[in-house]
Formats: sequence, structure tokens, C-alpha cells
Amino acid sequence: MHVATQAQSPEPFAATRRGDDRADRREANRAIGVSAIGLAATGLAELAIAALSGSVGLLGDAIHNLSDVSTSLAVFVGLRLSKRRPSETHPYGWERAEDLAGLAVALVIWASAALTAVISVRKLLEHGTTSHLGFGIAAAAVGIIGNQVVARYKLAVGRRIHSAALVADAKHSWLDALSSAGAMLGLIGVALGLPWADGLAGLAMTLFVCHVGFQVTRDLVRHLSDGVEDGLLQAASAAAMEVDGVKHAHVRARWMGRSLLVEVDGFLNGDTTLAGSGAIGLEVERAVAAAVPEARFVVWSARALPS
Ligand SMILES: [Zn+2]
Repeated sequence: MHVATQAQSPEPFAATRRGDDRADRREANRAIGVSAIGLAATGLAELAIAALSGSVGLLGDAIHNLSDVSTSLAVFVGLRLSKRRPSETHPYGWERAEDLAGLAVALVIWASAALTAVISVRKLLEHGTTSHLGFGIAAAAVGIIGNQVVARYKLAVGRRIHSAALVADAKHSWLDALSSAGAMLGLIGVALGLPWADGLAGLAMTLFVCHVGFQVTRDLVRHLSDGVEDGLLQAASAAAMEVDGVKHAHVRARWMGRSLLVEVDGFLNGDTTLAGSGAIGLEVERAVAAAVPEARFVVWSARALPS
């Protein structure tokens, strides 16, 4: 964490980061990495069988699984890049690399959704056929099992290290098993003599892919447009004003990738010494960090209360 006390700090931009709970973070990263590899294998197997059988339901599910993998990949690439040290040309570091990776992923996901929709509609209109139903149903079963295994694994690790994000991710994987079940239902429908069932499943899969696209895009737009979640500012300013000597505080915050940058303008009595203002700044840093765990940088500016 970084405190730049405007009048006092010798190195105003020498950002030092607050230490995360490293072991937990490593474990969360490993869970995400292992899950992504499992899902990628599942998605590629489905993709191959989709090409063989002409099943658009399976194609949609494969694209969905691969979309999920690519969002994990974006997080991974972003994490790696964001660890690069700040430099002369990038004084704030590479925190926003993750948002850039997210932008690329969002574009790919929306393009995939459009592709799945077009192929599904065309198959419905042209009464396209589906072959190799046994293989197709087996591939969908792999999708169900793959997502279930990943969901259980993420849930177990998430609960152990108390990671809400990982537990939420586990729920997502659980829902994804339902998506694979939808693809399977379409193929079973075809096997039972309803040739349009696969096209319908393909359209349903498109909705699942759109859902992933919507989530990725919503988070991205919020970050890139400097939006912050409700309650963050209130919590930070309440914490700053609790500190002895702070008469009033104005707080702003913005995301840089997964780091929250908090700027605190603290109003102090005009007769506060420079040393006193620096000490108050350190206190404010601690208070804000405790109140807002997302805060990675706190920039403190001391201002004299108008007399
Ligand atoms: Zn998903």
C-alpha cells in the first residue's frame, strides 16, 4: 500500500503493494488453472464431436466451455502482466492489462455467440440433420461430468480458503453442467425422432454464451468507465474520518485492473505540523485498508481546514 502525503513524501509515486495472503492466492490460482485445463479438454472434445455429428447444441456447449476458459486465461494473463513493476513509461504499472485482455475476450465471446445463433437458425430453417448421436450424447455427458468435477473442486478449495470468488465460480460451473445437459437433451430429442431438437438446443446454448458475454462486458465497462461498487466510498470515508485529527475527508476511488486506487483528501487543523500530517496519513492508510479490503493503493493528501 502506498501513502503519498502530498507535502512530505520523498517519493510520491513509489508504490508499494499491500501483501496479499499469498498461500491462499496461490491455491486459488492453482484451482482456477487446473479447472481451466479440464474445461479446455472437455470443450475441445465436444468441439470435435460437434464437427463429426453436425450437432449445433454440442457446438454451442463447446463454445460456452471454451469461452469460460478464455475468461480464466484473461485473468491469468492480466495477473502476470499486472505484476510488472512500474516504470518510467508506465508509472502506475500494468494494472489495466487485465481489462485489456478482458476486452479481447469479450469480443471473441460475442462473436462466438453470433456464430452459434446463425448456425442454429440455419440448421432449423434448412432442416439440417444430426448424425453419430451416440458419440454426441457421450460428448455431452463428458461436458456434464467435466463441469460437475470442476464445480466440486472449486467449491472445496473455495470453502477451505474462504474465497467468495471461487465459491461463486463453482456455482457457475454447476450451472454449466446444466448447459451440457441441455445439449444432451437436444440429441436425445433427435434420437427420439424430433430432428429440430438439436437446433433448438443450439439456440438455448447461444443464450448461455450471451450470459457469459454479458457478465464479462458488464464488469469491464464498469471498470473502464471508472465505476465503483456501492458502499466502497462510504466505507473508506467513514474509516478515514474515524482517525484522530481528521476533521473531514473527501474520498474518490477507481479500479485499475483488480486493484482499487483510493484517494483521500483529509482536512486537518491548520496548525498541524508536517510530521503530524504524515502520521495521520499512515493511520488513515491502515484504517482504509481495514475497512475496504479491495484497496491496494491509498493516496493521502493533507489539506488545511479553512479557518
Ligand atoms: Zn459458463
